[in-house]
Amino acid sequence: MQRKIVFVMHILLILAIFQTSPVCAWHPGELVITGDVAQEVVLAGYQGWEVVGLEYRGEAQEAIRLLPVLQYAGVLGAEGSIFLSAYDGVGAVLALGEITEECYLRLTPEYGWQFISEHHPRQAGVKFLEYVVVAAAGPDLPCLRLISGTTETVISYGSLFAVDSVQRLIIEGEAKKGDFTAAPFSRRSLIPLAQFLNKQEAAAVVAYLGDGSQVEVSLAGYLEWRGQSADYLGPDGRSRKADVKALWADAPETAVTELLSQALDALGEGRVLIILVDGLGFFELQQVQPPFLSSREVQQARTVFPSITPVALASILTGALPSEHGITARGMRELQVPDLFFYASQLGKSSALVEGNTKILNTSIRPILNPDLDGDGSTDYEVFQSAQEQLAAGVDLVFVHFHGYDDTAHSCGPFSPEAGEKLLELDGYIQALCQGFSGTVFVLADHGQHPTSRDKLGDHGLASLLDLTVPWFRWEQP
Ligand SMILES: [Zn+2]
Ligand SMILES: [Zn+2]
Repeated sequence: MQRKIVFVMHILLILAIFQTSPVCAWHPGELVITGDVAQEVVLAGYQGWEVVGLEYRGEAQEAIRLLPVLQYAGVLGAEGSIFLSAYDGVGAVLALGEITEECYLRLTPEYGWQFISEHHPRQAGVKFLEYVVVAAAGPDLPCLRLISGTTETVISYGSLFAVDSVQRLIIEGEAKKGDFTAAPFSRRSLIPLAQFLNKQEAAAVVAYLGDGSQVEVSLAGYLEWRGQSADYLGPDGRSRKADVKALWADAPETAVTELLSQALDALGEGRVLIILVDGLGFFELQQVQPPFLSSREVQQARTVFPSITPVALASILTGALPSEHGITARGMRELQVPDLFFYASQLGKSSALVEGNTKILNTSIRPILNPDLDGDGSTDYEVFQSAQEQLAAGVDLVFVHFHGYDDTAHSCGPFSPEAGEKLLELDGYIQALCQGFSGTVFVLADHGQHPTSRDKLGDHGLASLLDLTVPWFRWEQP
């Protein structure tokens, strides 16, 4: 057994030497298939791929087919382009639809990775390939969003490869050895932010990052393409924020994470009623103009990413970003930080969480669940009645979560007449809850929705203007 392991290790060592020892002046390097694909593929050789013998320019060659590599990577979207990009920055753009079984990738000591196709023009035969970047088209691509006012520019990560960039030489520091120094540098392709977000240079922008954090960045900064994602780099070209999902110029100053501190302040003065209208985007509210809510002053607020119920609810109840409270996806329930109800109890205040028919998070108090007793397909009426009971019982802090608007917007679309009807119904419940209540009222949403053209007509979860912009009401009920 021991000998077998040693033997295997010998083979691995030989393979390692074989793979890393230069066979010529040019090291072929690795070819990365990236962009709008499900998974990035790095080709260091033909291993794992069917090697095909072919005749090319009168010589017998060996190569692998490009199509199975693209299929393995999983091209997202039905159509688009592929960029064949060489180490020296030259390349060729081909139509995805024109990649056939006769398109090959060849690796030779003379030319590194090279694209070969007898059907394509000679210019497609790019040598020393570094990247094959898929820039696909389609509705569900992972995208970078640049939001300014009500304008949203959406660029898939594959397409970002083709966006104009500037070359910057970035000094990475200074190394010393005795009296001698060396300052390592790298030459980087950086995409100036100002070309998308046409505002004052000094204006601040909120960056939404993949880990659920948000940071303020500068318009004088840059984006750097990273294959299937993009990083933000500060004006110095060095300070880096990885995995940018959205950049939002003039984002609403109010954030849903402020509810916790505002509600606790108000709780010091009297009773607090918080009403969460699941899925109600700011722009939908503006379109419907429900009579009761429209008689109050509304602000825009920004929610968190990913813009889904458990993540946003956790931020609303803890005042923390997803990167801090630990809820970053569906199915996660354990909060890493204390919630609103814990702080309320520290103040000696009673609280109630009036929910629909399911528990979403493990909060410090047990939610009051309300199944759809009247069988009308929604828990809203039951939630309304349950909330009325809690208010009548004199509970200091009542948090009410209406789910019906989100459900209707999913099935009928966020700007549909049906969703508008639902909002009018909820507007009536909110008005009724406020009657006879004395204290501070907050009304907000966890996220909005955007229209889709697939099986459901509305959805959310993106770092998009419609999903991230929610209404925020606060008023004193005498
Ligand atoms: Zn929701
Ligand atoms: Zn939803």
